[in-house]
Amino acid sequence: MNVIVCVKQIPDPALPGALDPSTKTLKRDGKLILDESDSYGVEMALQLVGKAGGGEVSLVSMAPNGETSGMRTALAMGAARGVLVSDPALQGTDALTTAKILAAAVQKLGGADLIIAATESSDGYTGTVPEQLAEVLGLPSITFAKSVDVDGTTLKVNRQTEAGFDEVTCTLPALVSVTAGVVEPRYPSFKGIMAAKSKPVDTVTAADLGVSPVGWAGAGQEIVEIGQAAARQAGEIVEDDGEGYAKIVAFLESKKVI
Ligand SMILES: Cc1cc2nc3c(=O)[nH]c(=O)nc-3n(C[C@H](O)[C@H](O)[C@H](O)COP(=O)(O)OP(=O)(O)OC[C@H]3O[C@@H](n4cnc5c(N)ncnc54)[C@H](O)[C@@H]3O)c2cc1C
Repeated sequence: MNVIVCVKQIPDPALPGALDPSTKTLKRDGKLILDESDSYGVEMALQLVGKAGGGEVSLVSMAPNGETSGMRTALAMGAARGVLVSDPALQGTDALTTAKILAAAVQKLGGADLIIAATESSDGYTGTVPEQLAEVLGLPSITFAKSVDVDGTTLKVNRQTEAGFDEVTCTLPALVSVTAGVVEPRYPSFKGIMAAKSKPVDTVTAADLGVSPVGWAGAGQEIVEIGQAAARQAGEIVEDDGEGYAKIVAFLESKKVI
């Protein structure tokens, strides 16, 4: 069974992020890391391939400056190879064109039985790329997976809902987007980190994949305004004089939590 995982490489969320005021986008010029959201997809893929007893996990990523640091983390976890799409012409590429680029990268890898993405990324989080990617590839998609299993050619997913979960199935090949916590991602071993250095990552441009227009020219999405998030206001501290619980209950009732 062959699985392709979409891995977004993002600025380290532990460092202060910076916006480019001229383009109103996140600055992505430093080192990029594997989005934690996608580490769940990589782990899920490795477990499914292991259970199937054969096949491999491949990666597709679109990122600036030929950046592969995040992909190397996924390769160190156990993925076999990857395609990186990196190209100055991609600057300003919106979610739909990203999906078209990733679809072409998937096709370059020869397709797969299953494609895995995260429900949403940590830095941009439109939460639209996985479904757009499935549509471009003409595949069924199941979203918000809290557990994933494959039985022969059937994909079985418990799909997170507000009330619990739905049991959803479809026929492979398909795309599934997974939620955080679907599995516990493994830490790359030292051996895995060393092996990842020599695993193949094919770096291509949008033109190599035959996708155009890209970048600002192809974007149907526009960021019209950016601003600072409002500072959080101080919370109210309830001193317990024996009746503190009543104030907390009144507060929760006012918020319609209870
Ligand atoms: C106006 C604008 C300008 C942009 N400019 C650039 C730019 O100059 N250079 C650049 O590299 N990016 C750029 N981006 C970001 C890039 O296009 C995003 O990857 C895309 O918009 C989707 O991001 P998202 O976080 O909303 O996806 P979501 O739909 O929230 O992501 C869900 C999942 O889809 C997959 N996925 C999403 N994006 C990627 C990706 N890039 N590679 C692999 N898997 C992915 C991952 O599994 C991810 O967890 C720009 C985005 C916008 C809106």
